[in-house]
This record gives sequence, structure tokens and C-alpha cells, in this order.
Amino acid sequence: MIQLVKGTKDIYGAEVKAWQEIEGKMRRLCETFGIGEIRTPAFEFTELFVRGVGETTDIVQKEMYTFTDDGDRSLTLRPEGTAGAVRAYIEHGMHNQAQPTKLYYISPTFRCENTQAGRQRQFHQFGIEILGTYSAAQDAEVISVATALLEEMGIKGVELRINSLGCPECRARYNKTLKEFIGKNLDKLCDTCKERFEKNPLRVLDCKEEGCQAIIADAPSVLDCLDEECTAHFEKVQAILKENGIPFTVDPKIVRGLDYYTRTVFEFVFDGLTVCGGGRYDMLVEECGGKPTGAVGFGLGIERLMMILEKLNGPLADAPERDVYIGSMGEAGLMRAQALTFALRKSGVKADCDTVERSVKAQMKYANKIGAKYSVILGDSELESGKVQLKEMETGEAEEVAVADLVEILKEKCGK
Ligand code: ATP
Ligand code: MG
Repeated sequence: MIQLVKGTKDIYGAEVKAWQEIEGKMRRLCETFGIGEIRTPAFEFTELFVRGVGETTDIVQKEMYTFTDDGDRSLTLRPEGTAGAVRAYIEHGMHNQAQPTKLYYISPTFRCENTQAGRQRQFHQFGIEILGTYSAAQDAEVISVATALLEEMGIKGVELRINSLGCPECRARYNKTLKEFIGKNLDKLCDTCKERFEKNPLRVLDCKEEGCQAIIADAPSVLDCLDEECTAHFEKVQAILKENGIPFTVDPKIVRGLDYYTRTVFEFVFDGLTVCGGGRYDMLVEECGGKPTGAVGFGLGIERLMMILEKLNGPLADAPERDVYIGSMGEAGLMRAQALTFALRKSGVKADCDTVERSVKAQMKYANKIGAKYSVILGDSELESGKVQLKEMETGEAEEVAVADLVEILKEKCGK
């Protein structure tokens, strides 16, 4: 038997219903915020992610699913959603439309990581990307989307942490300060960080190795390196969050997993696991070949959201639900049951009938299992008299109705 690939999951039954519900909430929420959906391809040219995510990131250095196609082009399965959205924004001239452009996606995402709790190789991200504004108000609005979603899902205990990495100049200043600080302990860093130390010392703050964590514990704060404008921007984000009643803490250690962030970065953390991470990326559109464009967004792991929900609400229970089961006995009954069920379904009633040709007893057992609210059994005598017993499954109470009126009666009972 061929099994599924390590780090991937089948989603079905009660779980897929929960997913549909959450996805529905995400879509409705985006609609109220004026954010439209974008569906980009599952793979892009590798170069897009190398440029868009950054050469010194974990994603590009270790986690991408990269392959060569028949035209000898290097392609990569989407390891995050921002780069594809930015490519599409530029490619389709979206900057010519009313700005900002507000996009969201719900997509499978691929990273070749060691699998463990909260870490898969194919997972799903709900992300939003707002392009065409440099204002702090947009940073706050983006954060408020994630806040509203968590609130609507009744999730409490998620902590919002924010930070600012400043503009490229502030960043350069901080990288220099950090380099001086880390330089004293260079020999204690992991090999990847030794490399990062040269190219992008900021990345060391995001390393998950304990040794590196210990070294950067007392690192100088990036916030002390921000210039006046970047400080003002960060303060404005905080002021708007306060105005909106969104609680947060400032954490100068947050740099996020992607290289392209400027100014505001943030994450939502539950039980030590990041469920949502994002920030402003004012250099990325230009980096990918577009005009200089302010932009901000986040990516939220749907599997991690599910983990939180399960922790808070317990395991998902399968609660099947059908409006009516049209049972039958004999050939003529089966024929009529099929036609009635089809008519009911076309009217929006969740109807089922026997497609296994089981005994009546087995059919009723099945009707119970699928959670049917009503049931009938059509046999020769019902067809002859034109009358059938319509039974309410929970109470066992039955009323006699005309077979000819069955569709109308059930439509009414089911509010269709
Ligand atoms: P982490 O620090 O946990 O590795 P990250 O910095 O790689 O996260 P992002 O690239 O910002 O995360 O991705 C956004 C979100 O996607 C994460 O907050 C998380 O919820 C989810 N995510 C990232 N990698 C995985 C994975 N391998 N499996 C499941 N969800 C993931
Ligand atoms: Mg990661």
C-alpha cells in the first residue's frame, strides 16, 4: 500500500467541515475589509522566491521544493504567499487601479522542513497583502484583520507582539551594531549563523538554535537604532492599535522569517507557537521589478489555527446532518424514491435515499447514522394508496401525508 508523504495530511470528515467553516469566516471577513481574493499558481520561477524571500532566510537556504522542468527552468513550489501576490500585482499593472490594492489568499504552501508538532511539509496559509500605501494606518488595519478573525473564532489567549526593523538605513545601522555585539561570540554561533553574520546579522535573531538564542538574549534593541521617521511610524501604528482597542506588546527581538521586511513586523503567538506573522515590505515590489510601492501583509497558518481550536474546544466531533431519508421497498418504491429525492435535492433539501438496495431495517439504521431528521418508506402499498407515513426521527412521531405532496411538505418543513 502506498501511504501519504511524510509531512502531508488528508483533511476529511469533521475536520474538513471545520476547515470550510473557518475558510468561510476568512472570506466573509475579507469582504467586509474590502480585500479581494487572488489565486496564484502553486509554483513560480525559483528566482522569484530567492529575490522575494531573501537569500539568507531559512526558507531559501533549506526549505524550498525546487525542481527543473522539461525546459530546464528552475521552478519552486510556493513556500509562502507574498512573492506570488507581488509578482501578480506588477505583472497585471494593479497599481493603475484604485490604491491600495487589497488581496487575500487561502493556499497550500510547501516547505521541506523537519516534521513535528505544528510543522508540516504541505500546510495552508491564509494571507493578506495590501499594496500601494506607506501609511502606518495600513499596518494597523492589516493587524486588525488577524485580530478580528481570532476574535470571531472565539480564540482567547493569543498574544500580539510587534516590532519595527526601520527603513534600510536604520537596518544597516542596526546590523552594524549587532555585528559588533555578536562578533565577540562568533565561534559559538551555528554554522548557518556564521554565514548570516557576514551577509545579514539580523537573521541571527530569528535562529531557532539554542546556542544562538543564548548569545542574542542580551543583544542591543533595534528600536534604539531607528531614525525619527521610522520611530514616528512605529508610534503611529501603536497609537492606532490602542485606538482600536487591540492589545499588544513591543518585542524588539522579532525579525520574522523573511528578509524583505521593513518597519513594522508582528506576530500572533499562542503557547509559544506563532500562528500568524507579517509586516511591512516597502522594498519588495521594486526588488521584483515594479515601481517603489509601500506594502504590508501577513501569513497565517491554518493548521496552527486548528491546533489552537482543538486545544481550546477539544477534539472535533462528527455531527452528520440530513433533512430527510426517502427509504424504499421493492422495485417500484426504489424508482419513486429516487425521483422524489432528486426533486427534493433540486429544491435545496438535504435528502438521501437507498442506493445500496438494502433491507428496510438496514435503511432505517443508515438514516439514523447520517442524522436524518425525517424519513419515509415507499413500498407497493404506499404507491397504491398514495399515502405515506412521514416520521420525525427524534420523536418517532409520524403523520400520514399524500405522496404527491411530499416534496412540498418537506420543502416547507426544511425552510426551502
Ligand atoms: P516559524 O518561525 O514557526 O518557522 P515562519 O517564520 O517560518 O514560522 P512564516 O514564514 O511567517 O513563518 O509563515 C507564516 C505562518 O505560516 C506561520 O506563522 C505558521 O503559522 C505557518 N507555518 C509556517 N511554516 C509552517 C509549517 N512548516 N507547517 C505549518 N505551518 C507553518
Ligand atoms: Mg519557519
